[in-house]
Amino acid sequence: MPFDGRLEDWDGPRCKGCNELIEEGQPTTQMHFAHDPDGSLGMSGTWHGECSRPYWDKLTPVLQRLRNSRF
Ligand SMILES: [Zn+2]
Repeated sequence: MPFDGRLEDWDGPRCKGCNELIEEGQPTTQMHFAHDPDGSLGMSGTWHGECSRPYWDKLTPVLQRLRNSRF
């Protein structure tokens, strides 16, 4: 039997930050780390928006400057 119905076996999208499933409707952020361009290190990919928040200032200095100038 290929699928026994257990939720933990569902191969849905997982947050690269906390490794939990990303549920439909949850805010997500596409993260791209310079040292992991293809995601093979398990860093680049889809993150929960909240999980990626600590990295925002490191990864998106241009966006951060725009945010700072807007508020
Ligand atoms: Zn997460």
